[in-house]
Amino acid sequence: MEEERRLEAALAQVRNSLSHMIDGDPGRISGVSREVLETFLMLANDPGWEVKLKHGVRAGLSADAAVERVRGEHRAKFNATRDPYLRERMHDLEDLDNRLLRALAGVDGATSQAMPDDAILIARELGPAELLDYGAERLKGVALEDGSNTGHAAIVARALGIPMVGMLPGLLSRVEAGDAVVLDGERGELRLRAEGQVISAYSQRLNLRSARAAEFARLKDIPPITTDGQRMTLLLNAGLALDVHHLDETGAEGIGLFRTEFQFMVSETLPRLESQTLLYRDVLEAAGDRPVTFRTLDLGGDKVLPYVAAEREENPALGWRAVRIGLDRPALLRYQLRALISAAAGRTLRVMFPLVTTVQEFDAARELVDRELEWGHRHGRSAPLKVEVGVMVEAPALAWAVPDLKGRADFLSIGTNDLMQYFFAADRGNQRVSERYDVLSPPALRFLKRIREDAENAGLHISICGEAAGRPLEALAFTALGFRRLSMPASGIGPVKRLILSIDAGDAASAVEDMLNESPASIRPELTAFAVGRGYAL
Ligand code: PEP
Ligand code: MG
Repeated sequence: MEEERRLEAALAQVRNSLSHMIDGDPGRISGVSREVLETFLMLANDPGWEVKLKHGVRAGLSADAAVERVRGEHRAKFNATRDPYLRERMHDLEDLDNRLLRALAGVDGATSQAMPDDAILIARELGPAELLDYGAERLKGVALEDGSNTGHAAIVARALGIPMVGMLPGLLSRVEAGDAVVLDGERGELRLRAEGQVISAYSQRLNLRSARAAEFARLKDIPPITTDGQRMTLLLNAGLALDVHHLDETGAEGIGLFRTEFQFMVSETLPRLESQTLLYRDVLEAAGDRPVTFRTLDLGGDKVLPYVAAEREENPALGWRAVRIGLDRPALLRYQLRALISAAAGRTLRVMFPLVTTVQEFDAARELVDRELEWGHRHGRSAPLKVEVGVMVEAPALAWAVPDLKGRADFLSIGTNDLMQYFFAADRGNQRVSERYDVLSPPALRFLKRIREDAENAGLHISICGEAAGRPLEALAFTALGFRRLSMPASGIGPVKRLILSIDAGDAASAVEDMLNESPASIRPELTAFAVGRGYAL
């Protein structure tokens, strides 16, 4: 009983300190990190976590040992997954476990007492709440042996404007307290004991960077139109409610891809209907008049959920994933669609399905939307004003079936991450092969062009939403192929808009056409030389 009381007291302390961080000093936490903390508090309040801990104590463990055991379970899950995204979620859970252990030991969180001004924090790993403990005033950067750009700590760091670099193995053994270091968050580099010339080279880079940031900010409200009058639409890829603030920051015209699986992956238990609805409604409200395209759950393969036992598959990327799961186990997908429909009451709902391979799969998925709309109608729920149902073109088989989608789908979005993985038969998550082939190769570009033409002939709107769309040279090639809607990470909007404003789309189209008549492994060098020659802003 005593141990259970200690555990409860420590849990209450952790929850209180998180709530305090959220409600406390308003100047310290921006809207963005507040939302991260709220997600985090949600994890801390998760009954699943508490039940597991109490279970340990009731089985005779001390409170500390019970936390250690749960942390061990988290680590085991963490080590079993290859998905970097999920690994990050496990780091977040570890952050909570660590806070709880500190609370049990009577230590109140990390503090910034001993930290000098202009400090760069170097650690093995760091959770988002720990980062907030340190605060942004004196902390000028974070370098981690572990931890990557997709984690919550990285999101909080970005929100606080603190540069952060992860994946620096062996760092702790090479650096001493008090060393002067240069941290380059943009390139993901850390220079130890930097000297004169290196420091001045970095100062120049800093000046250049602020000049560029100022330029992107100036471009924010300028529509992306090429010099020959082609109007482009640049959209944002997002995955959390807090990503939506990038809309205002970047001037993107909407969200071209909202990856809904994020909410499922950060949660310890299956998100309930209400919490799904709440998230989607928040996103729509924050986006205002700007369109949002929700993508239904893209789980499976490596993206396993902590609370769903996954079967090991020989080839996860080719396995039971995305809409395949949704169609075989429609309850989960129907639930999600119900949440989306109810969140979009009185507005337009745009929803698309991932990894559809055949037209029949699309029809079946669309039918689930219709069934949910009927369900809502029968139960007197208010409906969206309009529902547009689209499909991601990620499987080559579907890419060749675009003409058959006429009259069935309302729009298409090419996911180049997966489409290129399947096109080149090269695992996007395997660094040995993921960079081996280039989307700027003639076969890939001819393929994309063909998809665009087929879509146009079928009267279907088409966009590109893979990571490649956010890189200026690739964006130039896609524009040259006739694409006019590109969706990308927030960091791509400024550079791509700057490029679009500088190019002549017709001129680029004929240049790329010529390049496609040759057969180099990639047109990257030629296209770069062409763009530089024309003075395009790459
Ligand atoms: C894609 O495959 O290009 C895509 C946008 O989806 P994800 O990266 O989430 O698989
Ligand atoms: Mg994909």
